[in-house]
Amino acid sequence: MHRFQHVAASAEDVVAQNLMQRRLGQLTGTCFQRCVGMDAINALFSVTHECDQESGTGYHARFLEFVKLVQTENLVVGGAMTDPKGDRGKGPSGQKDPDLFLRVVERRPDGVVVRGAKAHQTGCINSHWLLVMPTMRLKPNEKDWAIVGAVPADAPGLAYVYGRQSCDTRSMEEGQGDVGNVRYGGQEALVIFEDVFIPNERIYLNGETAWAAPLVERFTAYHRRSYVCKSGVGDVLIGAAALLAEYQGTDKASHIRDKLVEMTHLNETVHGLGIAASHQSFERPAGNFEPDGLLANVCKQHVTRLPFEIARLAQDIAGGLLGTLPSAADLAGLVTGPLLDKYLRVKEGVRVKDRARALRLVENLTLGRNAVGYLTESMHGAGSPQAQRIQIERQADLPAKKALAKHLAGIDE
Ligand code: SF4
Ligand code: FE
Repeated sequence: MHRFQHVAASAEDVVAQNLMQRRLGQLTGTCFQRCVGMDAINALFSVTHECDQESGTGYHARFLEFVKLVQTENLVVGGAMTDPKGDRGKGPSGQKDPDLFLRVVERRPDGVVVRGAKAHQTGCINSHWLLVMPTMRLKPNEKDWAIVGAVPADAPGLAYVYGRQSCDTRSMEEGQGDVGNVRYGGQEALVIFEDVFIPNERIYLNGETAWAAPLVERFTAYHRRSYVCKSGVGDVLIGAAALLAEYQGTDKASHIRDKLVEMTHLNETVHGLGIAASHQSFERPAGNFEPDGLLANVCKQHVTRLPFEIARLAQDIAGGLLGTLPSAADLAGLVTGPLLDKYLRVKEGVRVKDRARALRLVENLTLGRNAVGYLTESMHGAGSPQAQRIQIERQADLPAKKALAKHLAGIDE
């Protein structure tokens, strides 16, 4: 089966997910959209098992049937967690409009009907199935929001509103000169559930509010170290910056070399933390392996910062032409072409159009379509920075650290 559909059975499996993610980041230079489903499958594997053990529900066996279907038919699953959330000062039951968190609006003998929306859904347009999950800790009275289930991506009642991205219409222009990444781009959509039916056999939590928080915590332990993907995209950006330095004749300058060192150091920090979280995976009673939550959150916290610094250094190396480069049409223009060829020339033997392509790639990753993936998604994907800090505080284990300090300080209270 495909690793994106696989339930990790060892720490090596979890590490292999990360290695795959870095490689795919290198090959696509964007968000390749499959990890959310993989991380949701892995988190639900243990949550359904433990919920059954605790309450005698029958979710795990049902969920395994879904996983088998996905594996045997090689299907793409979109993990749909993020609700629009409305007034952030209030939870699901405090909202004036209860649909701002996806919820059950009707219970039937054969299933439930859900209404609501899931925001920023990476890869949903090209998924076969959507796995809906609650987005946050729920109170005991918020049973209608404690729903986990799988729906086909074309189920009646589903609507997708595609997000706009910076410079997106460039990919509809003739030629590829201004696109930046001529092969790939990511996409997200707002998915609206206008009364979508989920049959009983596709429901994997239904009213067990106490399991919402562990589900979110486990999902994010997987997903926050999945952001090793950004080190693969970082490799592309570092490569583009190094290429520009070479084209422009600045590659021997010590400060440029040092900036490339700094970019590499930051990029490997992201990779190192993610892969460390994966190496430190532990086994859940269900038999699957889950990454270390603290390291995963520290990884993602770095992802909310380091790509921005890498992008800043790439723009520094690229120079001002990054923002003022004429269009591919002008570069090829009858009158403008020869003039631009003369005035945008750099090192002997380097074609202006190749310099322009490398600049467009840096633009694409730091200002254009793939800046959504490399920067904004790094900031907010898998939870915004503060969400990681909350988890880091929870797992910081200050009492144990205080005990260490007391021991060495000779404090005997
Ligand atoms: Fe995967 Fe990264 Fe895209 Fe998330 S942002 S789906 S981890 S490639
Ligand atoms: Fe994500």
